[in-house]
Amino acid sequence: MDLSNKNVLHIKKNGIEYLQFRKLLEYKDIINHAYSLGIDKNYRTSKGDYYKALQDYKNLCDAIGVSVTNLVKTNQEHTDVVKVVTQKFNLNEPDFNLDQYRKTDGLITNQKNLILAATNADCILLLFFDPVKKVIANIHSGWRGTLQRISVKTVIKMQKEFDCKPEDIICCILPSIRKCHFEVEKEVKNEFLKEFQDISQEQNYYWIEETVQNKKWNIDTVEINKILLQRQGLKEENIIDSGICSVCNSDLIHSYRVEKEGYGLNTAIIELK
Ligand SMILES: [Zn+2]
Repeated sequence: MDLSNKNVLHIKKNGIEYLQFRKLLEYKDIINHAYSLGIDKNYRTSKGDYYKALQDYKNLCDAIGVSVTNLVKTNQEHTDVVKVVTQKFNLNEPDFNLDQYRKTDGLITNQKNLILAATNADCILLLFFDPVKKVIANIHSGWRGTLQRISVKTVIKMQKEFDCKPEDIICCILPSIRKCHFEVEKEVKNEFLKEFQDISQEQNYYWIEETVQNKKWNIDTVEINKILLQRQGLKEENIIDSGICSVCNSDLIHSYRVEKEGYGLNTAIIELK
């Protein structure tokens, strides 16, 4: 199985598999990045899973030549809070499960040697990179985060804090649940229609589709993020989509909808060199 396509490369190295974006590899002198593959791996850092996760993170970091102790990860609670990281807190281990990153779902930095990490199992993860100002961000945007427009808030924060220009920013969209499998009930559908009135009229609701029985709706949260980011000034060609559905590819990618209770987590990591 090879998930490579026009936007991503599927790498297999010493028993470790991961995706990299071809666009970001153009900047490999400036940044390192990867998205984990393999459902035998699990990047859940809470409680009993910590040591297994630490080993899996170490193997992934080794594969792309970064130091596992540089990792920083938020606690991801479906908020719209994005924080700027300026330092590590732990000396010899990653900054996982820290109070400083509670109720936070995204990280931005312009510092070298800080690996921004995020995890998902169907939720959208977004990697941002401004090659001009040399700023990176790693954002968790599940459907609740998308409803709160966390991707746009990230770009605004990059503009405010680091003087980034939206037209310079690259945004890579990692594997997540896609419209083919993101089926919701009426309540969630109504929340989306209410929040995204501004883009629904112009786009003629094409990101939402009613199923045959008229009881469920399929929503394209990836498309919503693409529209929002373009409205914020990102260039269409700088929004790079892996195009991969986690449910359709659940033999290689953890999916909450497939694995249910006890589901595992994938990770995306990015670091400025
Ligand atoms: Zn699918």
